Amino acid sequence: MKIYDVIILGAGASGLMAAVALKSRKKSVLIIDMGNAPARKVAISGGGKCNFTNTHADYTHYFGKNSRFVMSALAQYKPVDTLNWVKSHNIKFYEKEPGRYFCKNSADDIVKALLDDIGNTEIKYNTNIIDIEKPGNIFTIKTDNGIFQSHSVIVATGGLSYSHLGVSNIGHITAKKFGHKIEPVRPALCAIKTGAFNADLSGISLPVQIKIGKNIINDDLLFTHFGIGGPAAYRATLFSEQNIIINFAPNTDMFKLLKSNKTTNGKKSVPGILSEYLPKNLARFLCDDARNIADIRDNELKILADKINHFEINDVHAIGLQSAEVTAGGISTDKISSKTMESQLCEHLYFAGEVMDITGDLGGYNIQWAFSSGYVAGLNA
Ligand SMILES: Cc1cc2nc3c(=O)[nH]c(=O)nc-3n(C[C@H](O)[C@H](O)[C@H](O)COP(=O)(O)OP(=O)(O)OC[C@H]3O[C@@H](n4cnc5c(N)ncnc54)[C@H](O)[C@@H]3O)c2cc1C
Repeated sequence: MKIYDVIILGAGASGLMAAVALKSRKKSVLIIDMGNAPARKVAISGGGKCNFTNTHADYTHYFGKNSRFVMSALAQYKPVDTLNWVKSHNIKFYEKEPGRYFCKNSADDIVKALLDDIGNTEIKYNTNIIDIEKPGNIFTIKTDNGIFQSHSVIVATGGLSYSHLGVSNIGHITAKKFGHKIEPVRPALCAIKTGAFNADLSGISLPVQIKIGKNIINDDLLFTHFGIGGPAAYRATLFSEQNIIINFAPNTDMFKLLKSNKTTNGKKSVPGILSEYLPKNLARFLCDDARNIADIRDNELKILADKINHFEINDVHAIGLQSAEVTAGGISTDKISSKTMESQLCEHLYFAGEVMDITGDLGGYNIQWAFSSGYVAGLNA
């Protein structure tokens, strides 16, 4: 039986980028994937335009037990390296927000570029990895399509989110088998289910500030028929707390404003005044009081103002792994070398991408992490 230098488990963003690095080192490589096509998440990422990097990527944009773990890989394969790689493939791209890059035409351009770079590297599709063993110096990979052997293995099997694409926890099982700890997994970068709002707010969008634990998020919020979505809500799911405080008018002290309107606009109702600052339906939902503002006592105004500047929700539930863009948690980075991505518990076993306990913020940080960690694993395996 042929013994490959390296077998890569998973043909996603991180596995393919690992193969790019291995190709330059002229290693014999086999990539195994359960799907029928490469990098299926990349192909649908960024609404089909793939937000492939963010030049602001540093450890502060990553979450997990030890977010500083990303530093070495991000220094070895930087966002600017991704950008230059995209340019070298003549892929048309644009900067949607400062530092945040998308494909102009299609995310498929990124997939094609990865495939171009790995050239004739062998890929076995429709092959489900069932077990990995290392009885001696050689890894044995058991699949539903045969047994394969290699000197090194890169586990790049991704997270558990977007399960309809075909995902598995074989990466976690393998890591556990070799002694690694698994941080509990949960959905992240997804909508939030809450009973705090009415379904008739659905479709309203506005910039808000969200406080979750010690973290502050300034971004757009979208009301949905089951709760909240949009980038602000998505980003709130990066944190595990179930209690959030929304400021619907982050730049305005609403109590001050309402009090001054009491003298200047005494005959107006509070919803009438608020609708100059907030979408009308939201203003009515937050404060359905038809009285003239002049007739409302200051302590009542304070309660109304707090609903706008300090709206507390205690039943925050990330909608679920099925529709989450990423999986928080995963293989603990504790016993993995941040410089090489090699396991410190099993020689020649490497990890790359979302399978580890590293989750990037919304904005191109996750694909950058897949590329950086994949490239580093490929340089060392
Ligand atoms: C809808 C959506 C939009 C997104 N948009 C963006 C974006 O614009 N920018 C961004 O930075 N990030 C985005 N992300 C996140 C990003 O796509 C992922 O974080 C990244 O692709 C992870 O790469 P990976 O290589 O670690 O894992 P994956 O890409 O998930 O690859 C893992 C591979 O392993 C294979 N595999 C798993 N188990 C087995 C098994 N038992 N046998 C064989 N093969 C197996 C899978 O088939 C898969 O191909 C998005 C995610 C989703 C779902």
